Amino acid sequence: MILKPYAADPIKTLGRQYEESKSNSRNDFQRDRDRIIHSSAFRRLEYKTQVFVNHEGDMFRTRLTHSIEVSQISRGISRTLGCHEDLAETIALAHDLGHTPFGHAGQDSLNNCMKVHGGFEHNLQSLRVVDYLERRYASFDGLNLTFESREGILKHCSVNNAKTLGLIGDRFIKKQQPSLEAQIVNIADEIAYNNHDVDDGYRSGLLDFKALIKNTLFGRCAKEVDDIYSDINDSQKINEVVRRMIHILIEDVCSQSQKNLDFYQPKSIDDVRISPHLIDFSASIKQEQQELKQFLRHAMYEHPHVAKMTQNAGKTIEKLFAHYIKEPKAIPENFSINRTDNHQRVVADYIAGMTDRFAIKAASKL
Ligand code: MG
Repeated sequence: MILKPYAADPIKTLGRQYEESKSNSRNDFQRDRDRIIHSSAFRRLEYKTQVFVNHEGDMFRTRLTHSIEVSQISRGISRTLGCHEDLAETIALAHDLGHTPFGHAGQDSLNNCMKVHGGFEHNLQSLRVVDYLERRYASFDGLNLTFESREGILKHCSVNNAKTLGLIGDRFIKKQQPSLEAQIVNIADEIAYNNHDVDDGYRSGLLDFKALIKNTLFGRCAKEVDDIYSDINDSQKINEVVRRMIHILIEDVCSQSQKNLDFYQPKSIDDVRISPHLIDFSASIKQEQQELKQFLRHAMYEHPHVAKMTQNAGKTIEKLFAHYIKEPKAIPENFSINRTDNHQRVVADYIAGMTDRFAIKAASKL
């Protein structure tokens, strides 16, 4: 791994909340990654919805496989740009830990339930998971990750919440950027979900080839595939197209970001934080990527089948929330013990940590 001066460096980390002795065999970012992989929140990603509810089929992405894809894309971009691959991997694997069951529908519903109690933000929740909710160590709560990992995990945050977070919230108040590794994971997240949603959307029957091909980027890649292979079926063609789209997007991010780095010449991670956003697509690819994103929103996320799932998810979350507010004892004691949070926050943390199937089962018993 050849690191450029603007890369995050575990030797110069801003450190952990609780001091620990260094490892002889792993750098601090590798240790963070290993802590995430061994966490229970990470295992539960396997049974959480990305777009399709987990029980709808074994072939669709879950939050776990999505996170692994984001990690793969992030690592490649990091390596090309001379950024720290271990940090990018860590942030990617942790970036969705705070998601509720049932994808965005679940998060909207929980946010609604928490409206008068401080709201619910999934990015902030991811930070709560690693800072506090994972209880694996005798001497502290949370995973005690480095500042750089935590900075990357907290992708968005409202200014009001940022004010309560100390140093980690500062950049939202000062309108600064996180590390390049964190910026890489954000864009890798977008590349991963746009492409795997095309793939899952097609396989589920929600998207058809004719509609997909009208998208500029998809159409361009499909034409290239047609020129090479004359007698393949649509499903083979989709795979060839998605492969090409991912390749084009990654190459574009690398070349545009390299141009931005050459122009602004950040000499350190601190320079990165006060520079404009540096990891980006070129203008033309960004437009094509937006077009695909909008198409997916309309054709897939707002599809009646997905919308119905959204409605059901909302009802399940509301039902659970009302129940646990009324019956605090229904929450396992080991979850709420020694907590100083108000009861509503304990309920939100408990529900957010559920998998799709756990939530469905718990709600059906009520
Ligand atoms: Mg994601």
